[in-house]
Amino acid sequence: MAIITVTPSKSVKNVLVKGMMDNVMEQFNNAADHINLHPNIRKILSITNNEIIVHFPVKMDNGEVEIFTGYRVQHNNALGPYKGGLRYHPTVDIDAARALAMWMTWKTSLAGLPYGGGKGGIQLDPSKYSEGELERITRRFTFALADNIGPEHDIPAPDVNTNSQTMAWIADTYMSTRPPAERTANQHVVTGKPEGSGGLEGRDRATGYGVFLNIKFWIENKNETLQGKKFIVQGFGNVGYWAAHFLEEQGAKLVAVQDAFGSLENQNGIKVEDLFNYSKAKKGSIVDFPEASPLDTESFFTTECDICIPAALGNQITKENASTIKAKLIAEGANGPTNVEGEKILLERGITIIPDILCNSGGVVGSYFEWLQNRNGEMWQLDEVITKLDKKMRESFNKVYEYSETEGIGLRTAAYCIAIKRIEKAYVQRGIFP
Ligand code: NAD
Repeated sequence: MAIITVTPSKSVKNVLVKGMMDNVMEQFNNAADHINLHPNIRKILSITNNEIIVHFPVKMDNGEVEIFTGYRVQHNNALGPYKGGLRYHPTVDIDAARALAMWMTWKTSLAGLPYGGGKGGIQLDPSKYSEGELERITRRFTFALADNIGPEHDIPAPDVNTNSQTMAWIADTYMSTRPPAERTANQHVVTGKPEGSGGLEGRDRATGYGVFLNIKFWIENKNETLQGKKFIVQGFGNVGYWAAHFLEEQGAKLVAVQDAFGSLENQNGIKVEDLFNYSKAKKGSIVDFPEASPLDTESFFTTECDICIPAALGNQITKENASTIKAKLIAEGANGPTNVEGEKILLERGITIIPDILCNSGGVVGSYFEWLQNRNGEMWQLDEVITKLDKKMRESFNKVYEYSETEGIGLRTAAYCIAIKRIEKAYVQRGIFP
């Protein structure tokens, strides 16, 4: 199948489409205005470097062939190889991939990593396919992406509905299609692999652990503790589960949870491990968990609590529900869960938002450690990973918090300003070729 590579050369306005892209662009422009970003750098960062769309055939279990559409958007690589997840979900399209790729550029820059930003995925509902079909879809997608990814060029990772198994299939397919002498040297083409296949101990929990740390740092700055704090989580997957796990360990109480199948509430606390084991047995669904009551979807965000963790999809907190949120803190586990209108309402109400590019950056920091481990032929231990992650997350939180206080701006704009300035510096030092 042909690979269509589109490098947008139109004006900034022309690449804007409705939805998540509007959101990320407005966030970017707010920060760019604040730091008086050079107009040329603003132009460069407002568009994506490459947009790869592939259509590829896969044989289904019943013998029929289905055609799939996959995306990989490479936003910017001024600081290093493109880095970002692959999502399997019906909402994956070019708009979502562009916005998510941009968020990755800001996130890797803010974290001080030698990476740029990319994102992609396939528009599909994985629950409709068998394990064997998902494996063939993943392998054929990898083959279709071909040299558009690579360990020193563009390094995917897990995201919604993809996991360490998906990464193992990608790594195997990518390595198998390299010349023999290069095969094993390409293991770091993806991160988030299983531990037996070059994966990093602790990468599974890195994002949720980072979300937990950011909440802890914020609470500590207010001279409070997590003991007895009530929290709600939207999305009980990799990020939501691990964040809840660590918060519960510190005495906080999960009082409501929502996934793609339903919502639950128990103001006395929902035991995180019990819910995790239940949902694992129910193919990822929390519905009918016996130790909580069902909650209607619309009431979820209005639940009485101290902390709200959106850890599912984008555009979940909007002008429709922002005024009814009870939490004092929103910790964005997901990418882009709060849109610009929703954020304005929250900030006016004095609610703090720890922005996605800071709050969920533990995942990409963990991915960086895995990439280094593979590149250097090392095997890192869990305690070493956690110590390094603690240090990185603390540094990022402090610099965003301090900048926000000094400049009198929200944490999101502060995080963007720091991220954008680092990229601006690289462009200023190098100049623009030719
Ligand atoms: P996951 O597939 O492991 O879990 C997603 C969860 O969200 C599931 O519980 C699913 O049922 C739920 N969900 C899906 N649609 C929903 C809906 N409409 N309403 C409520 N719940 C819904 O995915 P994940 O890896 O945990 O990713 C979650 C979010 O975190 C995404 O926005 C992702 O981009 C972001 N993120 C993930 C990582 C990572 O390392 N996995 C890193 C940074 C950011």
